[in-house]
Formats: sequence, structure tokens, C-alpha cells
Amino acid sequence: MENVSLVSLYSGSKGNCTYIRVGSDEILIDAGRSMRALTSALTSVGGDISRIKAIFITHEHSDHISALEMLSKKFRIPIHMTEDSAKKVLATTSYVKSNLICHSPLFEEKIGDITVRSFPTPHDSDMSVGYTIGLPSGEKIGYATDIGHITREIRENLLGSSAVVIESNHDLQMLHDGPYPAWLKVRIGSPRGHLSNADCSAFLPELVASGTRDILLAHLSGENNTPAEALKAAMSLNLGIHIDVAREGEPTRLI
Ligand SMILES: [Zn+2]
Ligand SMILES: [Zn+2]
Repeated sequence: MENVSLVSLYSGSKGNCTYIRVGSDEILIDAGRSMRALTSALTSVGGDISRIKAIFITHEHSDHISALEMLSKKFRIPIHMTEDSAKKVLATTSYVKSNLICHSPLFEEKIGDITVRSFPTPHDSDMSVGYTIGLPSGEKIGYATDIGHITREIRENLLGSSAVVIESNHDLQMLHDGPYPAWLKVRIGSPRGHLSNADCSAFLPELVASGTRDILLAHLSGENNTPAEALKAAMSLNLGIHIDVAREGEPTRLI
């Protein structure tokens, strides 16, 4: 992929933000943590908040939106999200409204030369979506985190992507043995919760067969997973492609 950058600025239950640059078009997916954390992580990888043309939000959980209020106070960056997620966001902050662009769960938005398309994902929020980013070359990048399981829509949208960011949230044994209360373990492991390492890696051969060459495992649980465990599960398949793990507290460059 020529002239494309994709960097996870940080990832996991403490906050998520991914920076994508295609030529001179620069966008963010999600804006968790503080504005200060977001802008300094972005600067550290050569980005600049003033060049960001749009922010695309997957869903309204705080680890995906907590920088939005301050960002909206200081910058006029269009923020795209579904109507149902927006209702929840607007219940707690008024500033975001001025930059907000609401959509149905299936929407398409052109940002310069790239085309961002959403698709619904199974998660325990009011609404949740993943994205594909269509490039001028005809290639695409796929993005899906906070997904309880791999649905038909996720397959249809992610297959054929050159690069994919996909959730690999927890190791099943670590979740089972871990400190979380029983109700939370059930929630995380449910079909509308988070994707396990096992379910993630079971999907990877399909991605590779469809042409995917770069995969970033993302939204790892800090309690119920480690980068080594997530990578071990994905690498055990010997897929012969580039696989990396998005770190919780530091930028991870996929492309
Ligand atoms: Zn969530
Ligand atoms: Zn999340």
C-alpha cells in the first residue's frame, strides 16, 4: 500500500484511537482517553490534530469517546457516528453537538480520496459499527473491535481488505480464572461482548485467503490477556503474514 500509514495510538479498555493517513487525507477512528493523551500520541508519530479531516466513532462506550468533548471545544473536526450512539453521547456532553454528523448504522462518507463505509457489529452498546477505508488504489483497510463474535456483516466487509485491525480481547482461560465478577465474565464472553483470542485467530485464515497481508490485533484486555498470548494464538496458525499487537499505552504502527 503506497503512501498509507496506519498507527494504533493506544488500544484497550483504557482507551482507543487509531490514526490513518492516505496521501494527504488523515482521519482518526475513535477518540478515547484525554485530548492531551490523544494529541501527544498523534504528534509522536508525526501526525498533527490540525490536519485530521474527520473522526469516525465505532460506538458510545467511554473508551472510544472520552476525548471528544475537549476536542470539540478546541477544534472543529467533523465527528461521524451513528444516531443511536450520538443520543448517548449528547446526554453527557453538549460541546460535541456542534461537530457531530449523525448517520444510520450503514453509511458511507468520502474524505478526500478515501471512502469510509460503516457496518453494524455485535456489541453491548446502543449501537456499534466497524469500518472499511477504501483507498484510491482500489484496496481497502478493515477495522472491527468490540465485537462479540464474527457475523456475516463483519465477514462481508473485512474479507478482501489488504490490512485489518481486529479485536483479540481475551484469553478464554485467563478470563475464566481472572478476578472479574461472574456477571462481567459472562458479559465479556457473550456474543455481544468482546472477541476472544481463539475466535479471532479462527477467523484469520479466511482473511489471509481473501488477500489480507497485515493484521493488527487490538483492544486487548489488560486483565484477561497479554500481547504475548494474543500473538501466540494468531501466530500458531503459521499464516506467513505480518501480524502485530496494538499496545495499550504506546503507538503501534501497522503500515
Ligand atoms: Zn465497547
Ligand atoms: Zn471498547
